[in-house]
Amino acid sequence: MTTIHLPGFPRIGAKRELKQLQESYWKQEIDEAALLKGARELRQRHWLLQKGAGVELAPVGDFALYDHVLDAQVLIGALPGRFGFDAATLTTAQYFELGRGNARQPALEMTKWFDTNYHYLVPEWQADTAFSANPAPLLAQLREAQALGLKAKPVLLGPLTLLWLGKVKGTPFDRLSLLPSLLQVYRELLAELAAAGTEWVQIDEPILALDLPANWLAAFAPSYHALAETPAKLLLASYFGSVAEHADRLKALPVDGLHLDLVRAPEQLDAFLAGWPADKVLSAGVIDGRNVWRTDLAAELTRLEAARAQLGERLWLAPSCSLLHSPVDLAQETALDVELKTWLAFAVQKLNELKLLKRGLVDGRDAVAAELAGSEHVQASRRASPRIHRPAVQARLARLVPDGDQRHSPYPERAAAQRAWLQLPALPTTTIGSFPQTAEIRAARAAFKRGELDAAGYAAAMQQEIEHAIRRQEDLGLDVLVHGEAERNDMVEYFGEQLSGYAFTQFGWVQSYGSRCVKPPIIYGDVERPTPMTVRWALYAQSLTTRPVKGMLTGPVTMLQWSFVRNDLARSEVCRQIALALNDEVLDLENAGIRVIQIDEPAYREGLPLKKAALADYLAWASAAFRLSAAGTDDATQIHTHMCYSEFNDILPAIAAMDADVITIETSRSDMELLSAFGDFAYPNEIGPGVYDIHSPRVPTEEEIENLLEKALAVIPAERLWVNPDCGLKTRGWPEVEAALANMVAVTHRLRARLAETVA
Ligand code: GLN
Ligand code: ZN
Repeated sequence: MTTIHLPGFPRIGAKRELKQLQESYWKQEIDEAALLKGARELRQRHWLLQKGAGVELAPVGDFALYDHVLDAQVLIGALPGRFGFDAATLTTAQYFELGRGNARQPALEMTKWFDTNYHYLVPEWQADTAFSANPAPLLAQLREAQALGLKAKPVLLGPLTLLWLGKVKGTPFDRLSLLPSLLQVYRELLAELAAAGTEWVQIDEPILALDLPANWLAAFAPSYHALAETPAKLLLASYFGSVAEHADRLKALPVDGLHLDLVRAPEQLDAFLAGWPADKVLSAGVIDGRNVWRTDLAAELTRLEAARAQLGERLWLAPSCSLLHSPVDLAQETALDVELKTWLAFAVQKLNELKLLKRGLVDGRDAVAAELAGSEHVQASRRASPRIHRPAVQARLARLVPDGDQRHSPYPERAAAQRAWLQLPALPTTTIGSFPQTAEIRAARAAFKRGELDAAGYAAAMQQEIEHAIRRQEDLGLDVLVHGEAERNDMVEYFGEQLSGYAFTQFGWVQSYGSRCVKPPIIYGDVERPTPMTVRWALYAQSLTTRPVKGMLTGPVTMLQWSFVRNDLARSEVCRQIALALNDEVLDLENAGIRVIQIDEPAYREGLPLKKAALADYLAWASAAFRLSAAGTDDATQIHTHMCYSEFNDILPAIAAMDADVITIETSRSDMELLSAFGDFAYPNEIGPGVYDIHSPRVPTEEEIENLLEKALAVIPAERLWVNPDCGLKTRGWPEVEAALANMVAVTHRLRARLAETVA
């Protein structure tokens, strides 16, 4: 029998039950017993669902109360020493303190899980980090699954990936030196799992899809030889990219099976079928674990039939990766367009697709003829649907000339034109866009959505907020003002809701970290902007003041990156479509007299590919899409962009190629360190390095701001330096915002006076 297995299932629950449990527990509304009971019920529901759908090897250990990389750290008994916790006796409260921090220690650092939008807690390695097997929590879950009559397959994060994902703390050392003692613990864990009745254990080594240094690659063979001595059968899982270049190495490993991501890298199958060892399982990850589209079952079946002819029952079926990255259940979406809904599959529906593929393989195509016809129909309807294809968009893209994304003149000429009308003082001050999203704003929006407030009433409430924001900024003496983004619930959703080709789900949540979930919109068709999206708000703000008001848009790369993207068109093309739609808005703003326009790209870096070989291509199309969104604007129109992170060193040329007149970036937390990169590279345009951290309510002192600005002045010429906070202020309260901005403006005035003296 061909086996269906799952690398992992979403843990949050179809109704975000896990989030409710976590947050109620943190607020002490429920006790530990209730939390653990709720979590156990959620796991059981998910396992029974899988069992009902024909999953033959159900994952155990994919469920985490906060994060699966934190669970892996508990499992190997290696928690950061600074907390003083013992993994073997770790309480639930302590577990959450690791993830969320406590009065004495900040939380473990969080960073993105490969190129997904999930964030994991980074292990902290020290030269004297010691490991000890702590299998009890995993064994308990294993028994739960077995009690339901499931054949369970524990999922472990592989030793090399776990070491790789951690950061060295304290005295520098090679974290690979921890491998021998770590392997000893994995051997103990595997022995325990085997003793508890497991046949198969999945070991995830997603780092295989990265550019690995030779010594890390070389460590695979000895490591897996050491693990092979245990009685458990090992399924080594790769995902998120091709591992074809390691095909020989992986075929030779003493593991019992290998999982391949055949959605991200379909072409790698051939490299593994050739000479695949006769005693090993090959798990074909053919259902997309990271996107929402139904699989073309007939096409997959064709591919799988060939593989099955060679492998027989050693061919297994699976999603490409854990379904952690997929929303849970499409059945809940009652408001979605009915045709669009037929094109989609969330986690639960993906299980069904696996089952159908298996029947098609084992019993033959005739056994699933009706389902295959249904699938063909879906694919055909999607290909032909007028909802997807907007000839006007395609024609417009086809008409684009090669340098159609360039501004009229190079930056120095534009800067002169902008100075002439803007007449800004030296070191101009501004903010990044949003002002506090107060309870009143949220209440007005909720009332509007419920129909209790009509459109006019809602608009009036938003105008009042805008007026408040403009008055505060004038009182503070800021130079370039913003309207404050009161009307935006979310920087992607706000625009997506006004663009064609975008759809929004009610429950399409995906875990981002801990209890945080995101609900990415679905880009299903050609993107077009039917009517202006922001012009009236910007114009209203401008009508209240003689100072320039900056128009505020979310950039094409960010709109792409934070959505589920259609899989029938290259991402770069979808991005270009979004850029054109935004360009319409930019030109409308300009026509209406808004001549400073910021196009935010906080997700630019998130799109970086996992392998260096793909980097140049990504940077080229991403920067071109940004330029396209600003194309055709007058030299005197000042285009800003904003990015809120501080690792730019490797991508500075591409950032410069975006050719924004001004870029504002997050810098305060890195103590202006990254500015040296901007200085070394001689970044040609204007820069606003954030002079205070907006992530905390603490009001920065004038001294702190002055100190940072002086560091900035040491690398950026004064005539190209702006003064602003790190990011938007929507999560803050007005009192702290006003106090912080007042300090920022006061320092700027002092520095201006000093600059004037040195010039005189
Ligand atoms: N303009 C947005 C704001 O100020 C930018 C948000 C972001 O960078 N993530 O909220
Ligand atoms: Zn930001």
